[in-house]
Amino acid sequence: MLELTNVEVIYSDVILAVKGISLNVPDGKCVTLLGGNGAGKSTTLKAISNVVKTEDGRVTSGTISFGGTRIDNEDPAAVVKGGIIHVMEGRRVLRHLTVEQNLVVGGHMASSLRDVRARLDEIYSRIGRLAALKDRTSGYLSGGEQQLLVIGRAMMAKPKLIMIDEPSLGLAPLMVDEVFALLKSLKAAGVTLLIVEQNTRVALDIADYGYVMENGRIVLEGAASDLRSNEDVREFYLGLN
Ligand code: ATP
Repeated sequence: MLELTNVEVIYSDVILAVKGISLNVPDGKCVTLLGGNGAGKSTTLKAISNVVKTEDGRVTSGTISFGGTRIDNEDPAAVVKGGIIHVMEGRRVLRHLTVEQNLVVGGHMASSLRDVRARLDEIYSRIGRLAALKDRTSGYLSGGEQQLLVIGRAMMAKPKLIMIDEPSLGLAPLMVDEVFALLKSLKAAGVTLLIVEQNTRVALDIADYGYVMENGRIVLEGAASDLRSNEDVREFYLGLN
């Protein structure tokens, strides 16, 4: 279980981006963090992976724990070792490397070359499209293919929890469906998911539970099925009719 309690994040000692939020992601569940631009969603993920410190940000109060161990102010590499992978917004593939080379980079913690091969085979069998593209230079892939690749690269680390920031951003509807079908298959395989999305509909479709952020605070939370059906929520927070 990932647990955030009263977490506050400040950039450059002045910009209060996250104003004391608490949330839980139980093992094996999918939780989504919703809200408009600038609400603080990405900052929350960056606080958990602690890459926020590379942007001159700091968790200034509250606690973050994973599996009962405090991870706030932990080194980002140690957070990864602990089983949390953060797939950042913007599909950051290593553009000059092939698909397979990108995947191998994600498997750097594997114990042997044979283990890397086994992980690659597992990903190719789960994501057939990557198998077909394995020798292609990743910078030339479509946005959707790159999104599948960064998720595949995350899987190479065999994480317990994948945090993913705006996986649907800029993708054609069919590709959004493909990416979320992959996320659903990971959930079915027992991977815990924390998904930041502005595409409320697809996010609430996969999620068990949702939180809505506004201006650095959680303003609403509930079972995904309740958020989907609540009329006020749909209209005022989620922009659905
Ligand atoms: P988006 O979908 O636009 O990324 P978000 O909900 O993920 O929105 P954040 O990116 O977490 O929001 O931003 C929250 C607030 O923190 C915003 O006011 C933003 O301007 C500010 N912020 C984000 N990153 C930085 C940074 N590196 N330095 C200073 N301020 C930042």
